[in-house]
Amino acid sequence: MKQTLRLPTDNEFAAIRGNDASFDGRFYYGVASTKIFCRPSCVSRAPKRENVRIFDSTDAAEAAGFRPCKRCQPDKAPAADARLERARALIDSKLAMGEPTPTLPQLAKAAHMGATHLQRRFAAAYGLSPRAYAEAQRVALLKTELRNGSGVTDAIYGAGFGAASRVYEKAGRWLGMTPADYRRGGEGLTLTVAIRRTAMGSTLVAESTRGVAALLFGNTEKAMLAELRDEFPAARTDRDDTAGAAAFAALEAMLAGREPPKGLRLDLRGTPFQIRVWTALQAIPAGETRSYQQIAQSLGAPKASRAVGSACGNNIIGVLVPCHRALRSDGSLGGYRWGLDRKEKLLTGEGVALEPAE
Ligand SMILES: [Zn+2]
Repeated sequence: MKQTLRLPTDNEFAAIRGNDASFDGRFYYGVASTKIFCRPSCVSRAPKRENVRIFDSTDAAEAAGFRPCKRCQPDKAPAADARLERARALIDSKLAMGEPTPTLPQLAKAAHMGATHLQRRFAAAYGLSPRAYAEAQRVALLKTELRNGSGVTDAIYGAGFGAASRVYEKAGRWLGMTPADYRRGGEGLTLTVAIRRTAMGSTLVAESTRGVAALLFGNTEKAMLAELRDEFPAARTDRDDTAGAAAFAALEAMLAGREPPKGLRLDLRGTPFQIRVWTALQAIPAGETRSYQQIAQSLGAPKASRAVGSACGNNIIGVLVPCHRALRSDGSLGGYRWGLDRKEKLLTGEGVALEPAE
């Protein structure tokens, strides 16, 4: 068998860093320093790019001496429905060629399914209708092109948008800022950054004019500032440790088991699906948990539990968007961006009885 092992492309690495489940099944990545391989959506900590190796199959990864990750279990992939994958591949290939999104009848033909059936199955599997999926992929491509320094107009047409005006119309919702501002990762965005000690240790709050954009935990100031820079590489940051008072007050209230004051504004930046997940998380009361599966079901996308897990892993507003209240279906903790010990502490603090570790 042909054995392939190579370094990641920009898009592949962005998919790994973004835990992007839409790339699952298209490639696997191994980490040379640990000899473990994962699916793109794995919520384990993003590896250094130079350590990443890309494989076309789990066999290729294992033949190269890599072991499957225990968290994302890439070797136990439930085979994605091949017909749905064909429809998705058609959308992706049209996008890659800069052509218009296929119509629903074209997709149905490619998938050998009726249009209504395809629409429903696609949404159940990927959490988005084919049209919304195509749009999300286009926006992702636009973001990549802008980050790579393409001119705004080139990037807009390169991502297959027919008209710049359409992008500007929707830019606020998609990118959280205009395309020009998004270029180089948040250029034009100013974040006011405060770092304080809380019951969770060192805590960073970053606010835009729209609200709290990040609430991060870390062992050191340096690590938290680096994490913020990773998320907003070109945003301007103003340090002011007296800022973010309302966010810190809400956090302390939640950590003390009280209801947070109402009216705190959050600046949620993500895909439409991620924002739906983060909004659903905010509806889980303290002391309760939901499985990724239950959340997926509540969003009308029962098969999207892995995408829900990814969205939880991509949440950068800790506790205020209580992704710690989302668990695996078997009651195990799943992942947590800031470490499972913090997740455990948060949950036990809220009176959740956890399963003993296996
Ligand atoms: Zn993994």
